[in-house]
Amino acid sequence: RRIGVALVGLGGYAKGLLAPALELTKHCRLAGLVTGSPDKLPEWQGKYGIPDRNVYSYEDFHRIADNPDIDAVYIVTPNHLHKAHALTAAAAGKHVWCEKPMAMDAAEGEAMVKACRDHKVQLAIGYRMQHEPNTRRFMAMATERPFGRIIKLRADAGWFGWRDGADEAWRLDPARGGGAMYDMGVYCVNAARYSTGMEPVAVQAWDETVRRELFKGVDETMRFRLEFPEDIVAECVTSFGRNLNTLQVDCERGWYTMSPFQGYEGNRGRASDGTVFEPQLGKKPRMQAEQMDQDARAILENRAPRVPGEEGVRDLRVLDAVFASAKSDGKRVEIARG
Ligand code: NAD
Repeated sequence: RRIGVALVGLGGYAKGLLAPALELTKHCRLAGLVTGSPDKLPEWQGKYGIPDRNVYSYEDFHRIADNPDIDAVYIVTPNHLHKAHALTAAAAGKHVWCEKPMAMDAAEGEAMVKACRDHKVQLAIGYRMQHEPNTRRFMAMATERPFGRIIKLRADAGWFGWRDGADEAWRLDPARGGGAMYDMGVYCVNAARYSTGMEPVAVQAWDETVRRELFKGVDETMRFRLEFPEDIVAECVTSFGRNLNTLQVDCERGWYTMSPFQGYEGNRGRASDGTVFEPQLGKKPRMQAEQMDQDARAILENRAPRVPGEEGVRDLRVLDAVFASAKSDGKRVEIARG
């Protein structure tokens, strides 16, 4: 059986990556559309053969409860809407897949986890990298420690394209979850956590925005330093003003690195012993197809998804502390525990 998926939000990522990826999946099919832009529908419905009865607006999408064609809802709207859309989908009895960052803060994320638990539906976060084979290798090395103790990490993620093709430039709007930290900083936080297999205990953060006239109330560049147990430190930079895409793990007796570590075409890397990591999934959007097939199988086999809601919440606890520290220009802030 294939899981019927409704996309909520038909913007750049839904159109460019997720809808084409759904066509490559073995266990999913695009079954429904939820949008506030009816003008987009003729093209989408024509291309993917979606009947009128499976099309919804944001206002009437609770009616999805009565639609047996749709098993899961994939939320691809701006960040401030993720929580409301997840709660609507959960109350309608549909499984929830939600893009990163999961929500605006940890409290919102926890409410999403609770709603999905109460309504007995799954909640998976769209951290596509955790489905990428080289990233999974790095995750395994967190336990295997092939070069001994981990001493230090570096994770840098940034891009210039924050406005290209993005509807209404919400990435510049603080009220809608704009700024580099929400958009790209989550990759650094998630990578630091999966590369160590540990939870950070404290953070110091510095907002290094240069173009304040453009980035009003949101961060163009954020630098932050995560403290982990065992004296491990992760130095991170995220930016809308620089292209950055590197993860480096320094250990007692060697190192390993990926650049890119969050590329659409898969990751490339190497280690100090000469090991080379080549991309393995093939061209985009294979990674998103792999992610959605994994999440569909979790539903079909009634087991927890690889990247559950709790994983998104852990990152948001770090983001809460990053924003608090940046407000006081680098004061050390302890990260809340679950
Ligand atoms: P986008 O601006 O291209 O699309 C957002 C969609 O939401 C648009 O169709 C827009 O019409 C709709 N929308 C509904 N209410 C809106 C409002 N109040 N303001 C603005 N737009 C509104 O953005 P995107 O790049 O597709 O990003 C959507 C989500 O997907 C974000 O959470 C983003 O972080 C995530 N994303 C993830 C990846 C990834 O690699 N995992 C890549 C890109 C985006």
